[in-house]
Amino acid sequence: MFRKLITFEEAKKAVNLNIRSFSIGIEEVSILEACDHILATDVKSNLDIPPFDRSIVDGFAVRAEDTFGADEKNPIKMKRIGNVNVGEPPKVVMEKGETAEIVTGAPIPEGADAVVMVEDTEKKNSEIRFYASVTKNENIMKKGTDIKRGEIVLEGKQVLGSREIGVLGALGMKNVKVFIRPKVAVLSTGAEIIEPGRPLSPGKIYDINGYSLSAAVKESGGNPVYAGVVSDDRAELRKALEKALASADMVVTSGGVSVGPKDIIPETVDALGKPGIIFSGIAVKPGKPATFAMIGRKPVFSFPGHPTSALLMFHLLARPFIQQMSAILPRKANTAKAIAGIRMFSARGRRTFVMVKLRSDGQGRIVAEPVETGASGAITTLAKADGFLEIPENQQFVDINETVTVTLFKDAT
Ligand code: AMP
Ligand code: MG
Repeated sequence: MFRKLITFEEAKKAVNLNIRSFSIGIEEVSILEACDHILATDVKSNLDIPPFDRSIVDGFAVRAEDTFGADEKNPIKMKRIGNVNVGEPPKVVMEKGETAEIVTGAPIPEGADAVVMVEDTEKKNSEIRFYASVTKNENIMKKGTDIKRGEIVLEGKQVLGSREIGVLGALGMKNVKVFIRPKVAVLSTGAEIIEPGRPLSPGKIYDINGYSLSAAVKESGGNPVYAGVVSDDRAELRKALEKALASADMVVTSGGVSVGPKDIIPETVDALGKPGIIFSGIAVKPGKPATFAMIGRKPVFSFPGHPTSALLMFHLLARPFIQQMSAILPRKANTAKAIAGIRMFSARGRRTFVMVKLRSDGQGRIVAEPVETGASGAITTLAKADGFLEIPENQQFVDINETVTVTLFKDAT
């Protein structure tokens, strides 16, 4: 099959054109399950938090003015009229010269406007001595100072983490509306690939891409569905692809997209439905045979089998798609400036991505060096790399000591 390579920019544009400007929907999940989900709507508080004025210390509730003038040498005495506990309304109302024992978190009784810490008091039966004065509202957290009723506390499209979920807890919300995570089926292809748990028979290798790509789906905000391994048989492949499409919102495959006789993925995908293949082959290195199709509204990405190529292409093309479907706001890639530790060559006429490792040169500079050659086949290449740098199509090499921008995998995988 003759293929015309398109440029990397054209490929990105074609993918972007098909990225839906809307998510796949909204669901309600328990706040126990909500971590890492994307909030679908603004959250407005219908409560004041705290819902009442509460003490922030253990001590004695007082009228502040009754304590004026008290110090270490001149304690002021007051009458203890009772105590206030957490979790119930106060049973006392305070008059001038009276005090009530109070614990942290308990509501301030009527008549009191400050709390003296227990450390500044002395208890003598029902008489309490105060060795320090307080000002009005001292040691009180006023109603609504944390969150005001009607306030928007979280904004739609925020990522929910432990702190945000704490806020939902404060509001008494059991469930929260989040964007549905797209299901992404991950299918490995190749007669030589086997799933773990079986002995390695001659000529076989264990599946890498099924797992690395599933993890990458997760890192991108999708729910991976591991669809296993299928050999390079047309009928089997078609069946596996149909099943993957039916069970997911997107399909990612690896292997079988090159131009070998067994590389039957593009034509098999194309036959699954309309519009079919959008492009097959990009002028990049590595990842040249990367193929993109839309079957109805479902994207199908087919990446080459080399684990590094597959993961890199996923990162560049599929990840933004999943993020868009998940309503994750695109984050700028995490980059670092470095200097090239060695001259790095590009592949003629192709956008070249060089996997690099970063090290400090001991003089405050960061040096980028390519991780061993052996090229895109080795998973260890990627495991060792901190990120990649790009050499444009029209540039032959990056010279030693040239300043380069490295896209880091961390936070951006
Ligand atoms: P292909 O793109 O099918 O020509 O595969 C390119 C290379 O990647 C071959 O050496 C394959 O054995 C290897 N490969 C393909 N799929 C996988 C996989 N799922 N896990 C590990 N290696 C793979
Ligand atoms: Mg293959």
